[in-house]
Amino acid sequence: VYNFSAGPAVLPHAVLAEAQSELLDWHGSGMSVMEMSHRGKEFMQIVHEAEQDLRSLLHIPNNYKVLFLQGGASLQFAMLPLNLLGDKKSVDIVDTGHWSKLAIKEARRYSAVNVVASSEDRHYLYVPAEDTWQRDPNAAYLHYTSNETIGGLQFPFTPSSLPGVPLVCDMSSDFLSREIDVTQFGLIYAGAQKNIGPSGLTVVIVREDLLGLAQPDTPTMLNYQVHADADSMYNTPGTYPIYIAGLVFKWLKEQGGVNAMAARNAEKAGLLYHAIDSSNGFYTCPVDPEFRSKMNIVFRLKDESLEETFLSEAKKNGLVQLKGHRALGGMRASIYNAMPIEGVKALVHFMQEFARQHS
Ligand code: PLP
Repeated sequence: VYNFSAGPAVLPHAVLAEAQSELLDWHGSGMSVMEMSHRGKEFMQIVHEAEQDLRSLLHIPNNYKVLFLQGGASLQFAMLPLNLLGDKKSVDIVDTGHWSKLAIKEARRYSAVNVVASSEDRHYLYVPAEDTWQRDPNAAYLHYTSNETIGGLQFPFTPSSLPGVPLVCDMSSDFLSREIDVTQFGLIYAGAQKNIGPSGLTVVIVREDLLGLAQPDTPTMLNYQVHADADSMYNTPGTYPIYIAGLVFKWLKEQGGVNAMAARNAEKAGLLYHAIDSSNGFYTCPVDPEFRSKMNIVFRLKDESLEETFLSEAKKNGLVQLKGHRALGGMRASIYNAMPIEGVKALVHFMQEFARQHS
């Protein structure tokens, strides 16, 4: 099947096949990766390579730490203010939808929050223009969500940095899908289960000067410095997700890296949006064109009573997990890095046929 789930999402077939081939015996060690000590030399090699491959994919400079954590991207919503507020009074957050809202709600437990801009007035169908943002020059950081997975809304730009206000980004659903300049950020984080690997792993890339600022009552396990000092081995990390992530990073390098991915992602998204826009209104995408996500394509059927038929017919054609998030309804096709273009073409073909039959 072609699986359009928003996450956990499809993984590259080659990665799963490789993991299967060494499931019982990793590189002649006689052990499965799942059975290895996280401090043994075999696993140390796995985690070291995973980090180096990620560093090379994103050109991560040496003054940034890469952390492999747990607790999902959701735990970062609390870890960020706990670790980065320091002696500042407030944090800046851009509100562009479901995930920003949760980040705001959680940050408010630990800090004052200044919502610098919000697109709630138009149901989160656009990203507010940067020159309208009400930024606080004394904020501890500025947080934004580069891709709103549920709303299908993506930032086409990186916000500008104010001196002394590091940029923090939730890249959970578009990490490694396009080139970024890591030096523009203080901290980047992403839950693994879309473009990185299985769930149970969160990748954090943090500039070293932002370590050591945690509030005194921060739980040890929520302190970035603790994890950085221990190379993500303060406690037992999610070893198997890290291993699979490492295979995904190698696969990405073989595919030509992040730039090659970006070109493929643009082509895939282009095919799907074109199919929607040229359907004479049978399908519509509500998001303003310049902010449409290349990862999560949301669309509606003009006749909502056809939704169930659409989903069941799609499933019969091997196209699964197309139902939109329960908060929004409609349809959503998530087409992360690992979705082959053939999957998108099959979906486009199905959508055109379905529209023809039901027009
Ligand atoms: N942020 C974004 C943009 C997401 O898409 C998600 C999950 O889908 C999260 C945060 C929460 O991630 P997790 O389930 O890993 O806590």
